[in-house]
Amino acid sequence: MSTEELSLSTSFDGANPQTEEGVRRLGPADFIVTPTQEEDNPNYKFRMDTLVVNPSNEEREVTLRIEWNDPVYMEPRHHVFTCPKPTAFPPPAGSLRGPWRRVQGRIAGTQVLVAFTVPPGETWVSLNPKYSYTDHLVDLDNRRRKPELNVRSIGQSAGGRDIFVISAAQAGEGRPTILIEAGNHPYETSGAYCIDGMLDWLLEEGREWLERVNAHFIQVSNPDGVSGGWCRLTGPGGVDVCHEFAASSDPTCVALRGFMEELRPDVYVNIHGWMYNDLDNFRYYHREGARFFAPALLEEVGNTRPRWRLENYEPEDPPITNHWYAPLRLGAVTIGFDIAWNSRTDDNMRRQGARILEAACECAVTLRG
Ligand SMILES: [Zn+2]
Repeated sequence: MSTEELSLSTSFDGANPQTEEGVRRLGPADFIVTPTQEEDNPNYKFRMDTLVVNPSNEEREVTLRIEWNDPVYMEPRHHVFTCPKPTAFPPPAGSLRGPWRRVQGRIAGTQVLVAFTVPPGETWVSLNPKYSYTDHLVDLDNRRRKPELNVRSIGQSAGGRDIFVISAAQAGEGRPTILIEAGNHPYETSGAYCIDGMLDWLLEEGREWLERVNAHFIQVSNPDGVSGGWCRLTGPGGVDVCHEFAASSDPTCVALRGFMEELRPDVYVNIHGWMYNDLDNFRYYHREGARFFAPALLEEVGNTRPRWRLENYEPEDPPITNHWYAPLRLGAVTIGFDIAWNSRTDDNMRRQGARILEAACECAVTLRG
């Protein structure tokens, strides 16, 4: 039997806790992990991305006591997701992010206790399946090899990170234009996995749409927040790129706004995550456009039965968030999603994304084609 000790690593892109100070050893395989946040806002304190290192050559049991220091929203934090880290780098396409396995935890005060086994090597452990900026760069390299896709930077964040758009588009053909955006709030990785599924679908089952729409995808819209391991903003003292979209001079907001102004999408879909365990949210303004998305809400996802809240509220005046700026300033059919991880698998999330893109294509061609 091996005597080598397990450890936790915080030295990777997007780690939360960000430093070793956030990890305290209680025993050979027992740790307190203390996630951090860029502000004091329990409503967004939902990020924990760490890495268990098992140097032995056998499976080991590990216990994590995740100290959230917040009594308010403990119920949504009652689990983690785990995934063995691929040993090859760059990993083969498709093997980077999954399959993620859900581990149910136990709430004790402000802690969530999870116990699970880890194989030899390294295992990602996250509250929500992670999607780091490094993961994104690896994916972009794979996407660039597809002749149907074009990848370019639309600008840089305050931290000097490129914000990328992945496009399946032909210039000058007068097709309707779709913009799909994800990751305004960096802990919310649902949209990044949805877009992963959308791109796969568009190049395979959904190929016919390549001839009928121009589709653009921003998978990581807040690279500083994602890379820094933050929850809502671009970083400490930073901005909310969704809620301050039209008003901020922050470089990420400037880049996203400039791109949307240049593109003037016919259909704009912004995908957020949230932490209601068995509830998802569908936000719409344009009723005619919204009805195309009903099939994407009705279909059962894997073995779960998500419930959708339909939210149609009064427009913001003046429109500052991207959700209101796109319809009121640019005339886009605008749809918002808040999609929970909890009982979804990463493949469920990809399939959910594919159905949303199919709906966006139908909507764009019928209303604006
Ligand atoms: Zn959000």
